Amino acid sequence: MSKTPPLVVIGTVAIDELSTPFGARQTVFGGSASFFSYAASFFARVGVVAVVGEDFPEEYRDVLKEREIDLSHLDTLPGKTFHWKGKYESDMNSAITLQTDLNVLLDFKPKIRYEKTPEFVFLANIDPDLQLSVLDQMHGSALKFVACDTMNFWIQSRKDAVLKVLGRVHAVFMNDGEARQLTGEVNLIKAAQQIYNLGPEYVIIKKGEHGALLYSREGVFIYPAYPLETVYDPTGAGDSFAGGVMGYLASARKVNLKIMKTAIAYGTVVASFTVEKFGMSRLREVKREHFDKRLEVLKKICKI
Ligand code: AMP
Repeated sequence: MSKTPPLVVIGTVAIDELSTPFGARQTVFGGSASFFSYAASFFARVGVVAVVGEDFPEEYRDVLKEREIDLSHLDTLPGKTFHWKGKYESDMNSAITLQTDLNVLLDFKPKIRYEKTPEFVFLANIDPDLQLSVLDQMHGSALKFVACDTMNFWIQSRKDAVLKVLGRVHAVFMNDGEARQLTGEVNLIKAAQQIYNLGPEYVIIKKGEHGALLYSREGVFIYPAYPLETVYDPTGAGDSFAGGVMGYLASARKVNLKIMKTAIAYGTVVASFTVEKFGMSRLREVKREHFDKRLEVLKKICKI
């Protein structure tokens, strides 16, 4: 049994291969749980439930060890680590997947061994059946808030399971293309409303350089992205955005609309750092004060 962090994430820990208009990398440390946990760790202690293969480099594990990240549930299985190959062309808002090798993910059966149920759980982008299996192991009234993410790959191949997940979470993070794909609705407000009707109280739709949209009982709220002149690598922007949001919520220990709005603003500034360099390298250079500074700029931009 290991000590329970206030925030736990299940997702992928990956070896990525990517190219953007600014260059290409054959092997980069990536994965939804990696970006999420690194970003969230600036706000709260976070536990990672994930799997890697025997080829997973020790230096990547060391990156997560730099932060207060609990790796007691990062399992190693025989075989290769999850591998994603993608590229970005002139539209840096949407990644083009060239190859997805699930590898050890196919044999992963997560077993939760924390002393207690964590208060906050994030079901990051991964097979929706794995998201459900982790959620099934989270019992008791300690569990305050569950959110999820997904992507076109799973909506296309496992839509029924994705819908099941949506019926069991308080919040969902999705990008605009995925919200349209899931609902078949072109108008984003209507798409968000349809997703809201599937269960989540907070529907957060990410729109890349155009910011984010929050649909809730209290209506629709719009957030700009932090204005950046150079975006090198958008990989992980969505996961680190969610990491900032959930990390902030876990530090607040409760969720209401006001707290959620601040959380989204923090998610926005965290993601703005992620995209400034390849992989996780920019996030590794920053401190919490950097986020607070950009948050002040964002507040000024939003004032009408
Ligand atoms: P994003 O924040 O959306 O840019 O997520 C980028 C990360 O998602 C990459 O580091 C990939 O390793 C990971 N990824 C790509 N495809 C999948 C998939 N089908 N399931 C889970 N994670 C994925």
